[in-house]
Amino acid sequence: MLYGYAGHILRVDLTSGTVSSEPTPEAVTHDFLGGRGLGAYLLWTEVPRGADPLGPDNKLFISTGPLSGTFFPGSGKLDVTTKSPQTGGYASASMGGLLSAELKFAGYDAIILEGISPKPVYLFIDDDRVELRDAREYWGMGSFALERILKQRLGEDFQIATIGPAGEVGVKYACINHDYGRQAGRGGVGTVMGAKRVKAITVHGTNGIPIADTDSFIGIGKTAFKACKEAEALDAWIRYGTMTVTSWCDRNGALPTRNFQAGSFEHGPSIYAPVFRDTIVVTDKGCFGCPSPCGKYAHAPRYDIYVEGPEYETNGMLGSNLGLSDIQDIARANQLCDEFGLDTISTGGCIAWAMECFERGVLTPAQTNGLDLHFGNAEAVFALIEQIAHRSTWLGDLLAEGVRVAANRIQQGSEAWAIHVKGMEQSAYDTHSATSMLLAYMTADVGAHHNRAWAITYDIAVGRDAVTPEKAAKVIELQHIRPLMDALGCCRLQWVELDMPLDLYAPALAALTGVERSWDDLLHISERIWNLTRMIWVREIEGFGRAWDAPPVRFVSEPATQGPTAGKYTPPEAAQQMLDYYYEQRGWSREGIPTPETLARLGLSDLVEAFMK
Ligand code: SF4
Repeated sequence: MLYGYAGHILRVDLTSGTVSSEPTPEAVTHDFLGGRGLGAYLLWTEVPRGADPLGPDNKLFISTGPLSGTFFPGSGKLDVTTKSPQTGGYASASMGGLLSAELKFAGYDAIILEGISPKPVYLFIDDDRVELRDAREYWGMGSFALERILKQRLGEDFQIATIGPAGEVGVKYACINHDYGRQAGRGGVGTVMGAKRVKAITVHGTNGIPIADTDSFIGIGKTAFKACKEAEALDAWIRYGTMTVTSWCDRNGALPTRNFQAGSFEHGPSIYAPVFRDTIVVTDKGCFGCPSPCGKYAHAPRYDIYVEGPEYETNGMLGSNLGLSDIQDIARANQLCDEFGLDTISTGGCIAWAMECFERGVLTPAQTNGLDLHFGNAEAVFALIEQIAHRSTWLGDLLAEGVRVAANRIQQGSEAWAIHVKGMEQSAYDTHSATSMLLAYMTADVGAHHNRAWAITYDIAVGRDAVTPEKAAKVIELQHIRPLMDALGCCRLQWVELDMPLDLYAPALAALTGVERSWDDLLHISERIWNLTRMIWVREIEGFGRAWDAPPVRFVSEPATQGPTAGKYTPPEAAQQMLDYYYEQRGWSREGIPTPETLARLGLSDLVEAFMK
């Protein structure tokens, strides 16, 4: 009995239209746990080197973790892994909501989507009844509209994930939507689902999850819930969710403003959390098993639309970064992205770049189809979101490729305004003056994403421009803890925001699975996963090395224009010195490649050698 797991993986061959179930490999759960770890293992072993991300050889892995669907705080997460059409490397996106638990209740730890369907389909799962159903009538529909229809037709008990039109037409940063506002957002996981012509996944399950020591697991779970419920920060967290970060970032020069030209917004207070809560929030919303629901469901009366959000990243990237200062405008942009199936972070990064190009005369009114792309023009933002989602204009089609490709095509200096790492647009923390956070973005395993290591508070605590080995060590420490939660299938925010003790995780996992592991054992597994994902980049990108960890040009060449960091930027040699510290402590070469000794220490030598070709 594989305690803590549903015990099976569902394999869906879209080309032939067949489905099969196979046992979850126990040895893999020992070495990689589940969720993000299982996804990385499957991507490494099942997708051949050089596979076209949008071709039949690439696969989409949807994987839960051992804690998913259990009585443990925040156990409603799953991970979506694939080869990224946006970066060409590793993509992994975490998604909350109710799908993760439902999938385990249906009897599956993971779904593997492989091949390409000859026609649009949706995957129907009702315990062991699994079918590929015709989805031609749904092709072209928005995510919310389709979720509503499928709930009406199948029943409210079904949990549903969809793609919008952006995933169908190959926008490189299309997302997967679920539960009217939860997303697997980054890296183009929705693009791959669209290329496979899978419009939706619907799941209903009625099974339980086997637990090795039920009394002990429930006891630890109760302790964990109590810690969350008694946390001092709980009330404010439930009231504002991640939006609470907006004012902190604005005060500390970290709020992206007009394509990261600055980290502080002169209209910042108008998009702070209290304005949001008092003017548009309707109710709170949480994932499965969450004691601290951060989701805020909102209604923007000016547009008469409902949306879950904006949360902080969206507020920063579709708000201050585009010069928008009205929370209803940001909510409208958020809702359009969700309905069309666009990652809000990348969409904000691409439109911000286009606006800067327009203001600097690099993009002309003829090229924008008459759109006035000055920062702050909400109507132009709405129009451009729609053009990107449908690739319906020259500019929309260009921006659908992502900011790296767009800047390389337009050139004229615009490459320096393209804020990305490895081709992924940077999320919402300005890094003109925050060397740990800059390093976190440079080295994140998917591109410039914050959730691997949110190190900016550490920068502010120890000196934001300091260049020290301790800062590199902090980034590595966070890169092992935070992604570990994605392998376990649970939310990190109970630890980050409510100080839920980290020393509860190992005993909980031991009681659940019957396998004794210490916290250090778990960190060792997390380090193993981190190095395997690094090897995915090495295998898939010819010549991969140090240059791929380069910071966005702006942060190492142009001072911030206003706010507390005005006049500051990170000298390029400081960024390179941080990278040296980082590589050395990771046991990687000066080019950023894991050494044979490091792979051996992590027990990865044979696995890497077997699938490197
Ligand atoms: S804190 Fe937010 S993201 Fe985490 S489980 Fe709760 S509702 Fe989901």
